[in-house]
Amino acid sequence: MRVLVRYHEIALKGRNRPFFVDKLVLNIRRATADLGAFHVQGFSGRVSIECPDDVDWAVLEERLRRVFGIANFSRVLEAPRTLEGLEDAVLRSLAGREIGSFRVQARRSDKQFPLRSSEIDRQIGAAVARATGAPVNLGAPDTTIHVEVLQKHMLFSFERLRGPGGVPVGSAGRVMALLSGGIDSPVAAWRMMKRGCTVQLVNFHAFPLQDRTMIDKVRELAGILARWQNRCRLFLVPFGPVQQQIVASCPAPLRVVLYRRFMLRIASTLAYRHHAKALVTGESLGQVASQTLDNLSTIGAAATLPVLRPLIGMDKDEITVEARRLETFDVSTLPDQDCCQLFVPRSPAVAATLREAEAAEAALDLPGLVATAVAATEEERLRFPKL
Ligand code: ATP
Ligand code: MG
Repeated sequence: MRVLVRYHEIALKGRNRPFFVDKLVLNIRRATADLGAFHVQGFSGRVSIECPDDVDWAVLEERLRRVFGIANFSRVLEAPRTLEGLEDAVLRSLAGREIGSFRVQARRSDKQFPLRSSEIDRQIGAAVARATGAPVNLGAPDTTIHVEVLQKHMLFSFERLRGPGGVPVGSAGRVMALLSGGIDSPVAAWRMMKRGCTVQLVNFHAFPLQDRTMIDKVRELAGILARWQNRCRLFLVPFGPVQQQIVASCPAPLRVVLYRRFMLRIASTLAYRHHAKALVTGESLGQVASQTLDNLSTIGAAATLPVLRPLIGMDKDEITVEARRLETFDVSTLPDQDCCQLFVPRSPAVAATLREAEAAEAALDLPGLVATAVAATEEERLRFPKL
C-alpha cells in the first residue's frame, strides 16, 4: 500500500524546510512503528509512505490523523507513465466503486511529460464518464480523482483525507505543561503540541493527604495526549507538604495564589533540569478567582521561565468543544480530589498583589520546599504505540 502525505504550513518555511520534513517523517515512522515494515520518505514536496498491503487502513488512517504537520493524505495507486496506462489502471480500480459526480485533477511533478495537466484531466475524465456513466462536475464533485505524474510512473487516488494541520512535534522545542485533572490544561498542552512543541507534563497532587483519583485521571489524560506525540514524560510532584507549610504560615485568602506560585517555581526547576524552555498552563482570563489579571500576574511572577497560556482568550464553551474533540472531556469531568481544593478558604483573594504574596512567603523556606518537592518527584514515560 502506498500513501501520499501533503503538508501546508511547513512548506512555507523556506530554508528550514528539510528540518521540518525530517521531523514529519520521523513522527510518521514513530506513529506507525507497530504496524509493520514502513518505508517513509520525503519526496517532491510530499511525504511518501510505503507499507505492506495487509496493514489495516482504518488503523493507519487514525494514526495519520494525529500526526501534526499533515495537511491531508491519500491512499494512492500506481499506473504506468502513459495516458493509456493511466486510463486502464483508473478504470480497473473503479470497477465496483460508486463515485457519483467527479472530476479529474492532474499535477505534473515531472514537467517533461508531454501532455499538460489540463489535457490529462480532459482525457481521463472523458474515459471515466464513458465507462461509468458518472457525470463530470468541476465545481463540487462527489469524488476528485487526483493524478500525479512522476518521473517513473503515475499515482492516482480517489480520496483526500484531512490531517490535523499544525507543525511537526519536536520542531519548536520543549515545553513543560502543568496538567491538572481539569478540562482546560489537556487542551492547552495539545495546542502547544500542535504548534510543534514537545510537551512534557507535570502534575501536582496531594496524595496521601488526598486519594489517588487525580493521579489516575492525569495518567489517563497523559495517555490520550501521548497519542499525538508518541512519547511523553509525566512528572508527578507530591505537593501536600508545600500546602501544609503555606496553610501553617500564610494568610488564608492568599493560599490558592501561593499554591500556584509554588507550582510555577517547582515546574521551572523541573523544566531547567529537563531542558524545557517554557511553561504552559490552561489559564483563561477571568474564568475563576485565581485567573483575574491581577492574580495571573502575581502567580506568573514566580516562574523563572516564560509562561505560555494558549487558552487565555478562549471561553469555557470553546475550550469544552476542543476537549470533547480531543476525547479528554469525559476523563476530565470524572470526580477527583484536586489538590487546590485542599484547605481552600471561603473567600480567596481575587486581586493578590505581588507585594502581598512575597510578604506572605517571607515566612517560608522557598528553596528548601522547592528542592524537597523536586527530589520527591516521580517520572513516568509514556509511549504510543506501545511496542
Ligand atoms: P484546568 O481545567 O486545567 O484544571 P481550571 O479552570 O480548573 O483549569 P485552575 O484550577 O485555576 O483552572 O488551574 C489553572 C491552571 O493551573 C491549570 O490549567 C493548570 O495548567 C494549572 N494547574 C492547576 N492545578 C494544577 C495541578 N494540581 N497540577 C498541575 N497543574 C495545575
Ligand atoms: Mg483545575
